[in-house]
Amino acid sequence: MINKKIKFEIENLVKVLNEYSYQYYVEDNPKISDTKYDILYKRLEKLEKDNPELIKRNSPTQRVGDKILNKFRKAKHTVPMLSLSNTFSKEDLLKFDKKIKKNLNINNIEYICELKIDGLAVSIKYKDGILYEASTRGDGKIGEIITENISTIFSLPKELNRKENIEVRGEVYLPKKSFELLNEEIKNNNKKIEIENEKIEKENKIKKLKNLNLINKIKLQPLFANPRNAASGSIRQLDSKISSQRKLSIFIYNVIDSNQKTQEENLIYAKKLGLPINSNYKIFKNINDVLNYIDYWENNKQNLTYDIDGIVIKINDIKLQDMLGNTIKSPKWATSYKFPEQELVTKLVDITYSVGRTGMITPVAILEPIEISGSTITKASLHNKDVMEKLDIRIGDTVIVKKAAEIIPKVVKVMKEFRNKNSKTLVFPIKCPSCGQMLKKDEDTSFIFCTNNKCKQKNIKKIIHFSSKNAMNIEGLGDKQVELLFSNNIIKTVVDLYKIKKEDLLKIDRMGEKLATKILDSIEKSKISSLDKVIYSLGIPNVGEKSSKTLSEKYKNLQNFINCRFEELKNLDDFGDIMSNSIVNFLHQEENLNLITDLIKLGINPEYKDNNIKNSIFYKKEVVFTGKLSLITRNKAKSALEKIGARVSSSVNNKTDYIIYGEKPGTKLEKAKLMKINIISEQEFYKILSEINNEK
Ligand code: NAD
Repeated sequence: MINKKIKFEIENLVKVLNEYSYQYYVEDNPKISDTKYDILYKRLEKLEKDNPELIKRNSPTQRVGDKILNKFRKAKHTVPMLSLSNTFSKEDLLKFDKKIKKNLNINNIEYICELKIDGLAVSIKYKDGILYEASTRGDGKIGEIITENISTIFSLPKELNRKENIEVRGEVYLPKKSFELLNEEIKNNNKKIEIENEKIEKENKIKKLKNLNLINKIKLQPLFANPRNAASGSIRQLDSKISSQRKLSIFIYNVIDSNQKTQEENLIYAKKLGLPINSNYKIFKNINDVLNYIDYWENNKQNLTYDIDGIVIKINDIKLQDMLGNTIKSPKWATSYKFPEQELVTKLVDITYSVGRTGMITPVAILEPIEISGSTITKASLHNKDVMEKLDIRIGDTVIVKKAAEIIPKVVKVMKEFRNKNSKTLVFPIKCPSCGQMLKKDEDTSFIFCTNNKCKQKNIKKIIHFSSKNAMNIEGLGDKQVELLFSNNIIKTVVDLYKIKKEDLLKIDRMGEKLATKILDSIEKSKISSLDKVIYSLGIPNVGEKSSKTLSEKYKNLQNFINCRFEELKNLDDFGDIMSNSIVNFLHQEENLNLITDLIKLGINPEYKDNNIKNSIFYKKEVVFTGKLSLITRNKAKSALEKIGARVSSSVNNKTDYIIYGEKPGTKLEKAKLMKINIISEQEFYKILSEINNEK
């Protein structure tokens, strides 16, 4: 029995993907990003694989490219021009390796890896060594003739070194610089058109009064979305003068039926004929080395003068290639690894509203579980009411979820084209989901808050924040334990943490003697936390770790801090009105002042220690790390630097003072060299740190 829902989803995906393909291949004007297209395509592939009886003839999985335009003359390809299968993760690639070894029944395979040039595929024919016909891939069987345009590419020889009759395949691309210049030119041209259109508008006003025919405004030319579309739009021009101005280039990656034994020999042969090949290819005998090559290019692709969107992995031996053959769409002996953007499609199951320690209400998307880079995602933040309403997200919607490194996953797009017609708009609650009090909107930030100081969830979150690793670092006391201690009336505020007895802890589910002792020890140890940690643990709205450090440096102890004034705060580095107001408001509330006084009474009353940090070369400097550190973890290095007054940021820019590099540094190091930023090795950095620590 066919599942109606799946049938409906397949039909929808085919329809939508076909529309996107047409805009991409035929109009050179994509409406969504390649990543989003690939995500939807993968989803369709999976559904079709599980339900082969539902595969539609017009499915994009069953053909290469799209229709071809009648404005071009057509050429039939003697050997079909295929696409490539895609892999998006290392696991997929390992599966590819395993599958072909199994199919060929051999254990060792030699691979050739080539850069996957992001342009458009062309076929070029030479007769007696003279270029006589070139065509696009079209639908894989028939292409559009573009001989004149191809002939304008400077790097492509019109005559080969030998009088051969051959057909070659390659990728036409637009170098990054030419792409920027082209879009710049279009922008300038559009500015002129806008001035012209203003004149036309004025003239039309007069013409209207006189009842004369109006003049049509001139259309603005849209900018190209990326170099690939610009290359395609430039080569598929009827006027070859336009393509000649566009500075296109080409890499040849195949000579058809060249009688060579390997793909590497094929490339060398193309080079001998005088054809431009990309010399970054490499041979590997082991799939793990292929993975390292991929890593290398993922980190270094920015340094190329043209765009690549992945790596092509091919079996080097042509006999083995022939043994495996092709599917209707792509060769079985090759695949492409596409550099991933961590975005995936899933479904929205529900929305819950979480109450934060400041009372802020955050809508949370509950998702059908999906795997993103090794972890299973079931929840994603929807940020706030405004974002949720702007997305117009509804239960059952198909959504795109993005996860950037170490950041909470976010819903970035709702695919409204897959929406169930009966779905209902969601209404943001007007009452706190925890205590039921009416919620309030903060006009400055647009966030919605529960302002009830007795709100249970809010108070639990305050204690969780206070005990967290970057605050008072109370080990063993997780979110669950705090909730249980709160619900069992053992703690109501953070001060109660310091009154807990072992027997209280042992009353809690799954709490053993060992964990209870660990928690109590850790609570005791937290009393000697530094001033910035104590300020941070108070959970003052808008005050993060960095601002807490600035406050501790300025006020030196809690007593001074309680007496801080708005004007003083506002003049501190990076403190604006919002943060300064927030601190003053916090300290004006009796409950918060009592809390600080109670902490002082408990002996939590640290003094800020200067440590002569001003002498350090990193004092008030901005530092960036790149590569893997082996002597110290990134987190420890970061906090050591912050202790000596430095700021650590993630990207190199004109504010960066130092870059510290470890093993396999990324492109940040190259950029820093170009920008003449001070470069320090991990070893030198470690030495400087040790010296500072010895001085203390
Ligand atoms: P592809 O671009 O994923 O891979 C196949 C192509 O890679 C070949 O045809 C060839 O032209 C090229 N290539 C580059 N370097 C190569 C090399 N060294 N060796 C061999 N081939 C090399 O596949 P495709 O069928 O051209 O396009 C499909 C892709 O296009 C999709 O995965 C998607 O990313 C994109 N697309 C996007 C939209 C959109 O709306 N954004 C729509 C349709 C397709």
